[in-house]
Parts: sequence; structure tokens; C-alpha cells
Amino acid sequence: MIEKILIANRGEIALRVLRACKELGIKTVAVHSKADADLKHVLLADESVCIGPAPSSESYLNVPALIAAAEVTDAEAIHPGYGFLSENADFAERVEESGFTFIGPRAETIRLMGDKVSAIKAMKASGVPTVPGSGGPLGKNDAENLRIAREIGYPVIIKAAGGGGGRGMRVVHTEANLLKSIQLTSSEAGSFFGNPEVYMEKFLENPRHVEIQVLADGQGSAVHLGERDCSMQRRHQKVVEEAPAPGITPEQRAKIGQACVNACLEINYRGAGTFEFLYENGEFYFIEMNTRLQVEHCVTEMVTGIDLVKAQIEVAMGKPLSIKQEDVKLNGHAIECRVNAENPARNFMPSPGKIERLHLPGGLGVRWDSHIYTGYTIPPHYDSMIGKLICYGTDRNTAIARMDSALSEMVIKGIDTNIHMQREIMNDGGFQEGGQNIHYLEERLEHLV
Ligand code: ADP
Repeated sequence: MIEKILIANRGEIALRVLRACKELGIKTVAVHSKADADLKHVLLADESVCIGPAPSSESYLNVPALIAAAEVTDAEAIHPGYGFLSENADFAERVEESGFTFIGPRAETIRLMGDKVSAIKAMKASGVPTVPGSGGPLGKNDAENLRIAREIGYPVIIKAAGGGGGRGMRVVHTEANLLKSIQLTSSEAGSFFGNPEVYMEKFLENPRHVEIQVLADGQGSAVHLGERDCSMQRRHQKVVEEAPAPGITPEQRAKIGQACVNACLEINYRGAGTFEFLYENGEFYFIEMNTRLQVEHCVTEMVTGIDLVKAQIEVAMGKPLSIKQEDVKLNGHAIECRVNAENPARNFMPSPGKIERLHLPGGLGVRWDSHIYTGYTIPPHYDSMIGKLICYGTDRNTAIARMDSALSEMVIKGIDTNIHMQREIMNDGGFQEGGQNIHYLEERLEHLV
């Protein structure tokens, strides 16, 4: 049993984890930076510890401070949320070595999936479809690299094995640029990520982003909870997510879902995880695995009725997975709009500040996951996302109409937000049609804001 959990995160996800703990009768320890003493979950937690100054590097990324906070409060487990240290294998290792339970996969799994080359190899071995490519790191043999690219066919993309956050990749359209691009990407990768290893993939020109949610207990059971479509992106940041993905058939879902389940069993995966795919012309191509809870987990919860955070905690307690694949039923449609403190009309400039007035939407099928409240001041040091509005409907059109109506009720005064832009997306013909690719939003934004 776990009786007390330290939440190593901030904002809406810290509150989300706290709520799950409360329902399970588990005590909570909130940690916060000096700029974050007023966070909602800090006020609601059983205990709280200040772990450092405002910059994340000195607080939310400060491993010794987090471990010390767990020690002084006698917490038994640490939930990392998303972002910050959630996919840091060294952190997971330190947590476990210090005698605490890390609510997530084993450190070695995080490490395996954190290296893109080893992740792709593991996926291939378990039958998960990957992007046609070099299949391993590129060597120094120019003739061989030219041959690989010719075989894949241009355009190709050179990617850093240790890359992340959309950095460390370069698209190559013609043979004349290949060798130079490999060299450049590799030397950048060496200085950014401390690992000069690069590999090559076919560059897909108009893919959608479709991802599969999994849950595994590390004891021989794993299930998939269907897919999410996260193609509405700006600068590789997801803006709107939905489940299920428009146009994916039950047969396609079962096939790709089973491949992900097989991969989980193969690597003895533990906890919640996401297999991210590019989807083009009816085919899935694995790009990476996220070994943590994701921002957009809520849409999966709404269509499956499964509480992913509670499931994570139960798995961390060593309980075998109680859900069987045949119990997972997808009902209706859910959409999530990320609400950000930013001004879309001013090149998305962040807009921290005090929430002077707040009116929230409600009603059937409306969920609001957020830590903000009237009088709360959004600090300038962190991510601009201040909440997620999730709307559920029996079908996609109902979910869209409900989201538009809910957004129209929402009043946040004192700061700028992207609520108006989200309404424009809900009312956009292309979005309503469904199944747009990852470039669609960026192209439309010129007309939308
Ligand atoms: P990161 O870990 O940096 O987010 P990913 O491998 O997930 O890197 O890729 C990030 C984004 O880059 C993808 O969502 C997609 O937009 C683009 N991308 C990556 N690989 C390819 C590819 N083979 N073809 C087309 N686009 C790609």
C-alpha cells in the first residue's frame, strides 16, 4: 500500500494527481517553488514543501530538493506528472534508490525509450510499424549514407537519437544536401543532447498525429485504450486533441492497439504510456513513446470511463491490472482545448498576470481541469497553459457544438487567453470535417486570428 504521495509537479496536473489521491484515500505532499505558494493544489494538499526559487532548474528540476522533501514528509511514492522530470531516467533511478516508489515505468524502460534509435529497434522487434529508415545510427561512410537515402527516397529527415522537444532534426529534399545535413545535425546533436548519434527516416509530407494510450502492470498484463488525434498543432505544440481519431476503423484500432500491447509486454512496460504515430494514407508510423501521463489523457478518460491517474497509482502499488482488453469500450467522442495565457493576435505572446474575474462553463459533458481561480496570479516563469476544457458528446458533432458553447460561456479577465481562437477552430469547416494533417492549423491560423 502507498499512504502518502509527493507530487513533483505544478499547475493543473498537480491538482489532477491530488484529486486522484484524495479519491483513493492517499495523503498528498505538494512541492512548490517560491513563486508558486498560491497554487490551488498547494492549498489543498495535506502538506507542502517549498523546494527552491522560481526558476524550474532550481525547483521542479532540483532532484536533491525533491528527494529531501519526500524524506522529511515520509512520503512513500513520487508522482512526476508530465514535463519536468517525468521522463528523466536518472531521476526515476534516484527516487527508487532512495527507497521511494516512482509512479511510472522502470528507469531502464525510460532510458530505452528516451533514445530514439533504441526505441525504434525495440518497436520493430515487437511488430510496431516504424517509418522506413536507416533503422540504426548513421555511420561515417558517405557512400553508404547516400545509398540508404536513395533507397528510402527523398525527402528524408535526419534526426538526433537523443533529440526531444522538436529539436535536433533536419529535412533533406535533394541528394546534394544530404552529407552536409548529416554532419550539421550530428554536430548540433552532440552539443545539444551530448550524443552526436543521428539516424535517417523517410520524411512524411502530410501526416496526421495519432497516438495510442496504453496501460500495463509490468506483471504480464497490458491493454490499449484506443487512440487520440492530436494533429491540431502550432510549432509542434498540441492545441486541440480528441478521441477517437476521425476515420480510424475498429479494425485499424484493434490492429495497431494490439501491436502496442505486444510491445509493452516485450519490454515489460509498467504504468501509463503513449505510442506516438504519424498516420498517412491509412498507415501508422511509430515516431516515439512517451513513458508518462500526457496532457491530453483526459479525452481518453472521457471515452473509456477509465481514470488513468488512479490506474497509474494502483500499478505503482504492485496491483495487477484489473482491466481486460475486452472491458475497454469506447463510447462517444471527447475533445480537449488547451487554454493558454497568451495572445494569439500578438504572435502568441505569453500573458501572465492576475485573474481578476473568472466564470466557468458547466453542464452535461463539460469538464474543466485547471488550477486557476479568481485572484490567482499566473507567474511568468512556467508554461502558459492554464487549463484544459474537455467536452464529451455522444458523437463528434455534439462534442464540437458543446465545446463551442462552453467556450462562449467562459470569462477570464485580467489576462489574455486563446479562448477566442479555440472557438474559431471549433467553427472551422476543415476541423469540423475531421482528419486534417499536422500542418493544417498553422496554415489556417493566418486567417483565424
Ligand atoms: P520530439 O521528441 O523532438 O518531439 P518526434 O520524433 O516526436 O521528436 O518528432 C516531432 C515532430 O517532428 C513530429 O510530430 C512531426 O511533426 C515531425 N516529424 C518527425 N519525424 C518525421 C517524419 N519522419 N516525417 C515527417 N515529420 C516528422
